[in-house]
Amino acid sequence: MAGLTPSVDKLLALIEHKQDDLVSLTQALVQIPTINPPGDNYADCIELLKSRLSTRGFQIEIIRAEGTPGDTDRYPRLNLIARREGSRPGPCVHFNSHIDVVPPGKGWNDDPFAAVVRDGKIYGRGTCDMKGGLAASIIAVEALLEWMPDFPGAIEISGTADEETGGYGGVAYLAEKGWMAAPRIDHVIIPEPLNKDRICLGHRGVWWSELETFGTVAHGSMPFLGDSAIRHMTAVLNEFETTLYPLLEQKVTSMPVVPDGAKQSTLNINSVHGGLEEGFSGLPAPMVADSCRLVLDRRFLIEEELIEVKSEVLEILESLTKARENFSYELRDLFEVIPSMTDRNAAVVQSVDHAISQIFGRAPEYVVSPGTYDQKHIDRIGKLENCIAYGPGILDLAHQANEYVGIADMVESAKVMALATHELLTGAQAK
Ligand SMILES: [Zn+2]
Repeated sequence: MAGLTPSVDKLLALIEHKQDDLVSLTQALVQIPTINPPGDNYADCIELLKSRLSTRGFQIEIIRAEGTPGDTDRYPRLNLIARREGSRPGPCVHFNSHIDVVPPGKGWNDDPFAAVVRDGKIYGRGTCDMKGGLAASIIAVEALLEWMPDFPGAIEISGTADEETGGYGGVAYLAEKGWMAAPRIDHVIIPEPLNKDRICLGHRGVWWSELETFGTVAHGSMPFLGDSAIRHMTAVLNEFETTLYPLLEQKVTSMPVVPDGAKQSTLNINSVHGGLEEGFSGLPAPMVADSCRLVLDRRFLIEEELIEVKSEVLEILESLTKARENFSYELRDLFEVIPSMTDRNAAVVQSVDHAISQIFGRAPEYVVSPGTYDQKHIDRIGKLENCIAYGPGILDLAHQANEYVGIADMVESAKVMALATHELLTGAQAK
């Protein structure tokens, strides 16, 4: 670390000395299979974090998101917030990690919950997304507290539920209850796997809706006596292909979204179903479908308004209502998220920028996520715009088989987190 003064060298060396601790903490977290859905073993994971952080002077709050989707006595939606108060007033820096992981799926070379260490990497479900990031933030904060026991403000670390299923039993609930909201906290870093030298400023918007077209049942041998809802839906899809998709391709954002294909508006048809129920193995009955349903997944840009996004689809449906005999439809909103992008001049962005430059000797890359993560709740419900995602782990590995996190990447990102926290608390870069 040429050019750094001994004091910062000492902090960085402290983090390096904690590498074995960082690896074993990550392994311990991964070995608790917090699979969501359904939300397995949250209590065990929360207990691990509680015992770890309470012995290091953190006050622990465990908050169950009662009544949120999936919350039952068998699968309680449990969240932990650990807070260490400084010796004098100052800002609160908060690290938020989700503790849930997606199901492992097939194709693994090792037991996905064994947390096998090989070739400088830890393999397992949740290593990359995002228990490696959670462990790195804990080591970063512990090292910083040893190096700077007397500090202003407060540091918080949270382990939260259900990010993989929308965050309603996790960050959304905590933001509603004021735990994860202004003015209680000032700066939030979410150690999602965005790569160790990139700062993720936010995400695109989301509109999910279910479209249903209607018809009239009849015998399949005499379709002219009925009216096929599937043919009406085909007309909708045809309009999407000929007018909507070309329109979306022209909408390009100034947001630095990765990968490049997500720099434009996108539309996926998540599902389409019409006619007889699926899951029956015998021969189908000959029926004209009286209903056809489709789920739209539209991702939109900061330059677009949600009302305009919806009206593009509504215009197509209205013109079909005029053009096609007996065309009728219902459009039901399922889920919507407004795009979020933190200002590059926000202190949380600048401090991580400075820290990345200091550790890697080059400026960070700024990115925006194609999909959403818990920042949406902190921004919209918590009214806190000073939020970014920054963490080790390679974005593309998230949710894949043989997911891993690099040990050196975790150590380096812990250094970045420690330096950034120092700057946010004290207002000065550690030199
Ligand atoms: Zn994640």
